[in-house]
Amino acid sequence: MSEQEPVSEQEPVSEQGQDAPKKGFFSELLAPVAGFGVSFRTQFREYATTQYPEEKRPTPPRFHGVHQLNRHPDGLEKCIGCELCAWACPADAIFVEGADNDDTPTEEGGTGRFSPGERYGRVYQINYLRCIFCGLCIEACPTRALTMTNFYELADHSRADLIFEKDKLLAPLQEGMAQPPHPMVSGMEERDYYQGSVDGATEQQRDFVAERERPDDTGQEQPGRDQANRGETKGGGRS
Ligand code: SF4
Ligand code: SF4
Repeated sequence: MSEQEPVSEQEPVSEQGQDAPKKGFFSELLAPVAGFGVSFRTQFREYATTQYPEEKRPTPPRFHGVHQLNRHPDGLEKCIGCELCAWACPADAIFVEGADNDDTPTEEGGTGRFSPGERYGRVYQINYLRCIFCGLCIEACPTRALTMTNFYELADHSRADLIFEKDKLLAPLQEGMAQPPHPMVSGMEERDYYQGSVDGATEQQRDFVAERERPDDTGQEQPGRDQANRGETKGGGRS
């Protein structure tokens, strides 16, 4: 039978808090209000909070906000209704319906065109209940028709109001532009628009628009005028 090792004597366990330093009289007195010191010191520091909506912090230059459909310098729309943006959208937030531009002479009832080239975006919708502001749509756009602004205040009371259509998405007319539909600048082709050869609406285009908007004092319907005002052309009427 082996000899058992003797059990070593253990140190007696000290009582909890026995080694903690004793607080002074004033520390104990001020302890309940010590937290207010933090609040007091913070009052003299610079605010990190932005007082939104009274104050708005500028967004970064490449911020992804609400979309914009851009125009050429003469007012024609850059969108050609190709639907590439809709196909690129991972959230299925874009709906585009293209239509043919109308090059029929005005005397034969032509209404003018909305974009250079063959087609334009007759219906364009972005559903901001779905959009995740990823920017893939603007990368896919071949004409730089679609870009994103830095506007982000999108809250609304109605779900329907968060589906933006062309009336909200199209860039406003700038100085030197004429309200489409109207013909392209005389002698220019579609590629000239993308090469920056057009720098504003011509007299001929302005006359076309003025003629379309002229009040009809004879009571007769002007050829194509009402169609144009509804955003319809011969090749792409509403179905
Ligand atoms: S930003 Fe993204 S989610 Fe929004 S419409 Fe464009 S592709 Fe779709
Ligand atoms: S916005 Fe661009 S990608 Fe989308 S339909 Fe128009 S041209 Fe095509």
